[in-house]
Amino acid sequence: MSAVPVDASPEATARAKTFVAAHEAKIRPLDIAAGKAWWTANITGKDEDFKKKEEIQNTLDAALADKATFAELKALKGLKDKGEIDDKLLARSIEVLYLTYLPKQIDPELLKKITAKENAVEQKFNTFRAVVDDKKLTASAVAKVLKTSKDSAERRKVWEASKKVGADVAADLKELVKLRNEAAKQLGFKTYHAMMLYLNEQDGDELLKLFDDLDALTREPFIKAKAEVDAKLAAASGVKVADLMPWHYHDPFFQESPGVFDVNLDDVYAKLDIVQLNEKFYAGIGLPVGRVIAASDLYEKEGKSPHAFCTDIDRAGDVRVLANIKPTEYWMSTMLHELGHSVYSSLNIPQSLPYVLRGEAHILTTEGVAMQFQKFSKSSAWLEKMGVKLADPKAFDVTAGKMLRNELLIFSRWCQVMLRFEKGMYENPDQDLNKLWWELVEKYQLVKKPEGRDAPDYGSKIHICVAPVYYHNYMMGQLFASQVHHALSKEVYQAAPATVLYVGDTKVGQFMTEKVFAPGRTLSWRDLTQFATGEPLSPKAFAADFGGK
Ligand SMILES: [Zn+2]
Repeated sequence: MSAVPVDASPEATARAKTFVAAHEAKIRPLDIAAGKAWWTANITGKDEDFKKKEEIQNTLDAALADKATFAELKALKGLKDKGEIDDKLLARSIEVLYLTYLPKQIDPELLKKITAKENAVEQKFNTFRAVVDDKKLTASAVAKVLKTSKDSAERRKVWEASKKVGADVAADLKELVKLRNEAAKQLGFKTYHAMMLYLNEQDGDELLKLFDDLDALTREPFIKAKAEVDAKLAAASGVKVADLMPWHYHDPFFQESPGVFDVNLDDVYAKLDIVQLNEKFYAGIGLPVGRVIAASDLYEKEGKSPHAFCTDIDRAGDVRVLANIKPTEYWMSTMLHELGHSVYSSLNIPQSLPYVLRGEAHILTTEGVAMQFQKFSKSSAWLEKMGVKLADPKAFDVTAGKMLRNELLIFSRWCQVMLRFEKGMYENPDQDLNKLWWELVEKYQLVKKPEGRDAPDYGSKIHICVAPVYYHNYMMGQLFASQVHHALSKEVYQAAPATVLYVGDTKVGQFMTEKVFAPGRTLSWRDLTQFATGEPLSPKAFAADFGGK
């Protein structure tokens, strides 16, 4: 006999079983219909398809908002917390369902107000154009000046104009933050930030500790990488390094690595078949993606979404990628990324798991897996092992290696600002947010605040307005990617992580399937990290990849 907790109750277990079965019967067809409608709308871009997608989404939301259903679920969650549900998978299903239904319990009137404010802010972003010398600039025109202009005065004007949207939305954003906090309070949380973390099985203090550790491990390598970038940026604009200002970087937030190195990585990919290369790579590691590619929509079309994503339509193997492939390094890395998501799906998560748990453990773990594979597009050794001949592999590596290192280090410092600013903003929306923002930018990104500047520059970052409390997951995904790669390198190869390229080795797919994919959502992201790597999530492996301690 297995050990059953003393207070386990057969009635509670039977009640939970009934609830989960009813949930699956009602929600599964809606999930599938929503997934298909979402896919179609993104392919056609037609109003009627977007309307259909919205209708199904509303039906789904209404089902999850149902008060009587939630009351039963809440009771079951209480029984589960007391240990009365003695089936582990069932107990986990109740936990996961509770986190799914809880945010839908916000008072409908308040939710309407929040949605209306969000839409108003999004509209302002969509219609905003930076105005310079009475001329309206599109976002790509702004990007072009910041990427190419050598004239500091012109860069400054364009950068300042691009920030005006922050002032346009600041008042709406403050109201939105207060409405979101009110909703969180209704559900028993101190702030909206705390609620969002709870729904994602995360915790504010734990997160700050993780990001403090990340700060300590990346500060020195970041300072070194930034010094090299700064020297090139200063030379390009004819200013001293000490006089570099936020507008000298190549994007409005210094979240990306400025393109200051020579070799053009696209030359290598211009003559390659990106789909074929991906298919060969994934088949080689024992995670074939032929079925995904056959169901996917991979090239540009009129009306189609210009982005890329992967979606698991039915948790029964109908997995698709939407992309707009061109023969460039960007699209090679994007396809490695999206197909990385695709192998961590019902393609390789066992059908024997209950429907509710037959998905990735967490958004950060699937982003992590995607990022783990994505990095290879910047490795000459990987390309050569894949049978691609490079004219000058050394030059490719110097540039690509620096790009990858800089991308990750710069992005990690930017994520520090985002996490800490959002936490501070939701904890006290009435404080001097302009000051908080620039203190964080100066401390973590080492970018100087322009003398006397006092503007809501945080508001010009759309994620702060419409994708709240989400950004830190990208960073945690990177930590997960490095940590899994290090564990795999040690266990499968007993080799230094930098030398492990996966090509043609089914042991890679076996490790990923057993250690990362197979548990699905039976494990939380914390337990999965421990299970896959033998340690809790930490920045150690990530920092080691970039010469940190
Ligand atoms: Zn992704």
